[in-house]
Amino acid sequence: MDIGIDLGTASILVYVRGKGVVLKEPSMVVLDKKSQEILSIGNEARRMLGRTPENIVAVRPLRSGVIADYEITQQILKYFIKKATKRFTTMRKPRISICVPAGVTSVQRRAVEDAAKSVGAREVHIIEETVAAAIGAGIDIAKPRGSMIVDIGGGTADVAVISLGACVVSASVKVAGDDFDEAIIRYVRKKHNLLIGERTAEDIKIDIGTAFKRSTDISMDVKGRSLITGMPVNITMHSEETREALKESVSAIIDTVRNVFERTPPELAGDIIERGIVMTGGGSLLFGLDKLIKEKTGINAVVAEDALSCVALGTGKYVEYMAEKFKK
Ligand code: ADP
Ligand code: MG
Repeated sequence: MDIGIDLGTASILVYVRGKGVVLKEPSMVVLDKKSQEILSIGNEARRMLGRTPENIVAVRPLRSGVIADYEITQQILKYFIKKATKRFTTMRKPRISICVPAGVTSVQRRAVEDAAKSVGAREVHIIEETVAAAIGAGIDIAKPRGSMIVDIGGGTADVAVISLGACVVSASVKVAGDDFDEAIIRYVRKKHNLLIGERTAEDIKIDIGTAFKRSTDISMDVKGRSLITGMPVNITMHSEETREALKESVSAIIDTVRNVFERTPPELAGDIIERGIVMTGGGSLLFGLDKLIKEKTGINAVVAEDALSCVALGTGKYVEYMAEKFKK
């Protein structure tokens, strides 16, 4: 059995070979502050977010560095592997490929690897996120041909040029979906004197958020607390306002794309101009981001099919894929 795990900063996905993506839950754990004991993981932990008493906290382990804690990492992996595989009986120990965000430290990487071995993996492979994203997006990365991947998750946007199965040039910026939400919160506070939460901001982003001017403006009602009276207030928010709010974050990502392209060897740059940029991750679903990248770089950009699952898919297929491609 081959299992691929995408340890994202926003969601954790588990892919089982032959079954597809069998599990997708928020990367969140609820901890007892004092003992650091895990009280809940995933969906259940998310339900507790913002509703915990003082002695327990909800954290996003891949953002807050908790993943470097071996015990916690082990418990998270155990939970997801067990849950994902309980319906399938198997004789052999699984071969597990895990994808970690580009920003993790070597200590964190090691914690993940050891934890996966300790929960019964026969083989463990730690894979670069952009390489997995490329495989998942259907790119034949084993070819001597340049492909550019822009993976925008919750915590980071990772840009890479891949050829012959590996990264040639890459860069990572800590600006992605979470920053989009924070930028919307700041904008609403400043322009409307209204306090909104992270969930509301994410709803705004997903429903009406835009990076490229829409042909017709759309709007939605937003509830929050007035910063002046402290009481609940309703406002109407327009898509054009989100474009204003998101401008800076979006520019930071586009600058990163430019920077990687500038460092790309000419032959590979030529391939990318010809074949375009492939976008993956939840953040790439922001309306018009593909169009804006095209406008600002002059290179065509397309969002991969099933952008949220690409990394999990590619991670699960990695071992098999590499074995086949490089055997010949
Ligand atoms: P990670 O790899 O870091 O776990 P994901 O690839 O799962 O992250 O992407 C999560 C991010 O994508 C979140 O910030 C979420 O709000 C955002 N997102 C999901 N769907 C959409 C959408 N339709 N439009 C804009 N952003 C979206
Ligand atoms: Mg991801």
